[in-house]
Amino acid sequence: MKTTIKITTLLLMLSLSVVSCKDDEFEESIFDTNIGYLDPNSYTYEFDKWLYDNYIVDYNLDFRYRMQDVGSNLDYNLVPVTYEKAQQMAKLVKYLWFDVYETKVGKQFLRDNGPRIIHLIGSSAYNPDSGTEILGTAEGGLKVTLYRCNKLNPKSVDDMNEYYFKTMHHEFSHILHQKKSYPTEFNLLSAGKYNPKTWQDWSDDEANSLGFVTNYAGSEAREDFVEVIANRLVLSDDQWNAILTRAENTPNEEGIKGKELILQKYEIAKKWLAESWNIDIEAMRAEILERQNNVIIHADNLDDLFQDQAADNNNDNQDK
Ligand SMILES: [Zn+2]
Repeated sequence: MKTTIKITTLLLMLSLSVVSCKDDEFEESIFDTNIGYLDPNSYTYEFDKWLYDNYIVDYNLDFRYRMQDVGSNLDYNLVPVTYEKAQQMAKLVKYLWFDVYETKVGKQFLRDNGPRIIHLIGSSAYNPDSGTEILGTAEGGLKVTLYRCNKLNPKSVDDMNEYYFKTMHHEFSHILHQKKSYPTEFNLLSAGKYNPKTWQDWSDDEANSLGFVTNYAGSEAREDFVEVIANRLVLSDDQWNAILTRAENTPNEEGIKGKELILQKYEIAKKWLAESWNIDIEAMRAEILERQNNVIIHADNLDDLFQDQAADNNNDNQDK
């Protein structure tokens, strides 16, 4: 019966959205940084070794794909990620997130500020009461959980952005603004317009016209702030411009100029990233968009992404 309920919930869902930022107590890290736990005879050895080399050694980060009840949200009926999808996700997270930061701000940045645990869950986590779906959570900035990983489709950039990568940039932006506050003037731009309970009822047109890049951005100011960053980072020019066009062309009863508001919000976020974190968001975005195209080209064999990257690095070094 549970399956039926879940599918029904999916069909009735008013909105897919990022519901996050739970400040749950963070459980002590239990991962073993001693390579001795890797068993060369194990079926998963090659992948586990790759995870060890690329995440534990490079970032002191435990990339968990075996579901652990103790680290999962027991309010939902969850299933583990498949081995195949875990491998794809681990490679895509590295290529589209960690390697982007390494290229643009240096490896140390994510060593200092990145999560210590990434936990993959195969299924979604729906909340039937609100008709929303949890896509990711970041607990105290240390642990990022990604849901719905069994539906990962490396051939669809839009799908990957909507369900995973926008979520990662969203959650990571929370981590950054918890360390260095963003200007309070941001909170004034849409003061009194946030809708923490029924934001999911807004259509794209409505949300955009009110000055929010997504309806979830209209839930509260700090969500608004990170949604502006996450959307700008992963959306194509056409997609971003479509938001601005809807914001400009949809009248709202309150006479709010949505497009101007979104652009003002973006300028504050851009300046804050540059001044507080030395991040050029436009340069980072260009890097991400280029990599998204590469993922489509190599969707059938994601390991090729890293071979191309290594070749590029060699060429760069020769150029110098
Ligand atoms: Zn959030």
